[in-house]
Amino acid sequence: MTSGANAKRRLTILGSTGSIGTNTLDVIDQLGGRDRFEIAALTGNGNIDLLAAQAKAVGAELAVTADEGQYENLKSALSGTNIEVAAGRSGLIEAADRDAGWVMAAIVGTAGLAPTLAAARRGADIALANKECLVSAGDLFVSAVAKGGGRLIPVDSEHSAIFQALEDDQRHAVERIVLTASGGPFRTWTREQMAGVTAEIARAHPNWSMGLKISIGSASMFNKALEMIEAKHLFDARPEQIEVVVHPQSIIHSMVGYSDGSVLAQLGCPDMRTAIGYALTYPTRTKLNVDRLDFARIARLDFEAPDEVRFPALRLARTAMRRGGLQGAIMNAAEEIAFHAFVAGRIGFLDMADIAETVMERMTDITPALSMDDVYAADDEARIRAAQAVSATEKAA
Ligand code: NAD
Ligand code: MG
Repeated sequence: MTSGANAKRRLTILGSTGSIGTNTLDVIDQLGGRDRFEIAALTGNGNIDLLAAQAKAVGAELAVTADEGQYENLKSALSGTNIEVAAGRSGLIEAADRDAGWVMAAIVGTAGLAPTLAAARRGADIALANKECLVSAGDLFVSAVAKGGGRLIPVDSEHSAIFQALEDDQRHAVERIVLTASGGPFRTWTREQMAGVTAEIARAHPNWSMGLKISIGSASMFNKALEMIEAKHLFDARPEQIEVVVHPQSIIHSMVGYSDGSVLAQLGCPDMRTAIGYALTYPTRTKLNVDRLDFARIARLDFEAPDEVRFPALRLARTAMRRGGLQGAIMNAAEEIAFHAFVAGRIGFLDMADIAETVMERMTDITPALSMDDVYAADDEARIRAAQAVSATEKAA
């Protein structure tokens, strides 16, 4: 390890093999790669070849697969190197606990919760892509970061935009937070048309190239539902301050409205590397090789009100925010089960929101989460109930 003025920054990427993870490695490479950074740990799941190739390319200290069954494969893929190997939940925690000052949290779903929390507790700066941390355990997660003493820097493009448009000393003057939504591939479709779509069709996002879950979540607007709750926790906003506007071009990434009528927005080409780079070099800006906006070519920016009848996920997010307590954890867990059932062809596209709503209506307890055990218990119960609702939907079809 180097030290002093030339010390390299030590980084860890949780979920390095995914869409955000590979983009993060690209940004690190653009900013000087191994000359400027040391990679403490990389983690993946089933994609062992990619994980091993990444670990070798950046000279990671530790490579972890979440899948214990893949431990031997990863070990043999990295034989002849001095890269350490670990697997499973404990391996993910080991990766999070390594002393890296900056951790990219880019594991998809609730699986990202425990490792991200571990990194937060030891005081690392958290570049947060995984929105489920805030949706399921918002208050606990935010206070864990505060106690740990690290910074929480959003990577989700909307929240990065808001973070950039928020004037630190003018927080009291924030009136509204406006999340933009592309509307996804079914923006203009009727419910009847959406009823029959497959995961293959639903995953084709018009503007962004992303992982499977978030792509499907963009089509159902469930992703925006998660982002509303994410924004509430990140920016300590009241539910009624959070608005969604459909903006099909995905050029304005989100906006903050102030009490004098001003609205500040952040714009850019739809490329996650801008938000990732900002999170890596915050509070300074760096030079990135991403496309620049050509306004004359874009010509126009359109806006529409979101339709909560065709996209009920937005309504569910409002219910979850209004109720508070563990409702975010319940909504998120139920949707995760419904998402997997949809991808497996067991239920239809519109059934996903119905299942999330059914579970939320059966678990209306709004006691606040006092510990992560409360979150995991609500998450488990919501998953069981959602699995039952999936079976019932399947039988009825
Ligand atoms: P992805 O599916 O492309 O990658 C997910 C990563 O998590 C991979 O490295 C995978 O190996 C790992 N993973 C999967 N299951 C795991 C498990 N059970 N345990 C541990 N690791 C596991 O997903 P993505 O699109 O990169 O998204 C990652 C997170 O970032 C999500 O929470 C998503 O909502 C958020 N996000 C993504 C984008 C985007 O543009 N892709 C934008 C904003 C926010
Ligand atoms: Mg987003």
